[in-house]
Amino acid sequence: MCIRAEKASAQGQDTGKMTAPIAKLSFWGVRGSTPTVDPATWRYGGNTPCLELTAPDGTQFILDCGTGLRMLGSRWAAPNGNGNAATHIFVTHYHWDHIQGIPFFAPLYAENNEFHFYSFRSKFLGRDSLKQVFETQMALPYFPVDMSAMSAKRKFKEVEGGESFRIGENTVTAKWLNHPQGCLGFRIETPAGIVAYATDNEPGDAKLDENLKELAAGADIFINDAQFSPEQLATSRRGWGHSSWKVGAQVAREAGAKTLVLFHHDPDSTDRMIDNVLRQAREEFDSVFAACEGMVVTLGAVGDRVQAHMPGSRTALRREAQFRARVCGVTEGGKDFEEQTLVRDLSLQGALISLKNLPRLQSELQVTMETAGPDGEAQSMKLRGYVVRIDAGTEKGHTSVGLYLRTEGTAE
Ligand SMILES: [Zn+2]
Ligand SMILES: [Zn+2]
Repeated sequence: MCIRAEKASAQGQDTGKMTAPIAKLSFWGVRGSTPTVDPATWRYGGNTPCLELTAPDGTQFILDCGTGLRMLGSRWAAPNGNGNAATHIFVTHYHWDHIQGIPFFAPLYAENNEFHFYSFRSKFLGRDSLKQVFETQMALPYFPVDMSAMSAKRKFKEVEGGESFRIGENTVTAKWLNHPQGCLGFRIETPAGIVAYATDNEPGDAKLDENLKELAAGADIFINDAQFSPEQLATSRRGWGHSSWKVGAQVAREAGAKTLVLFHHDPDSTDRMIDNVLRQAREEFDSVFAACEGMVVTLGAVGDRVQAHMPGSRTALRREAQFRARVCGVTEGGKDFEEQTLVRDLSLQGALISLKNLPRLQSELQVTMETAGPDGEAQSMKLRGYVVRIDAGTEKGHTSVGLYLRTEGTAE
């Protein structure tokens, strides 16, 4: 089984034309607990859990309804027929970060759309738990419009841990995970590969740990809760219902999963912290990615490497490596001015480069830039580039690579 990935696109646009069984998994929200807007978290993203899986038969699955769901809705393309016109939405549990996107999901307000919701009966809510969640979220004074504005067709189905059922050509299995007030993990087997989605779970309950392993068994993509560090998990955050990269790597190994995706990042984890977590995880398991908003994984495409591509980041990556500068401004006295100057200390956030080789997503590159010094002599600047984006290049045989850059020092 090989996994390839490409630029994100709204689902349903091209899958109908594919001949090989290909499934696309898109990450719309990857943050745990609460959305983050801190710029130090932008590279991995601040929206709470929401994934989209388009199966080879065109069936569209949505996993969780965190704030990432709004983004999915804004790029909405309804499923492309084949008798699979309804979208199947799985909600793992009722904590805020997994339901908060529902009232902001625009396709729910269009009567031509049809959604089938799957979730468990909570002992705190009783019958029609998810339906009650909808009503409560939109009750006065929490939301400006009421449920009657939601004109899309909606069906609600209760799912229990241990259940397994078919949707189109795909098999879905639900298992209980160890989390306060309960949480379901889902395993979706498509003709193109197997995705195991196990957010919000803490190790330590033998039976539920076994469930996690069963979900992950032989999966092409195993998405696991990696909110805390192993140290936090053993001490201050014990009992909070979450896991670590280390446990994920161990379960992936034991269950024979092919690729591990670290998920449900802590709101206090900055991009740099997640980079470090990923580095450590890659020392213990071969194929690991840190879930990132906009990441798209394709299952079942031809090729023999594991890859994941990402569309552009929110911040402009392109910079001209030109250190002579012209500065325009307003003087203290209120007069416009313009002058030539030289930037001596340049901090680059990112760059876009074109490569013949295809670097690994979320890996580091050494970049040395040749520039002209103050008197025209050649100077070089060494930078550490972290691969955050891979696109098909405009030049044939080249790949366009987006880098997040850090200075490593300059040399003559
Ligand atoms: Zn959560
Ligand atoms: Zn939770």
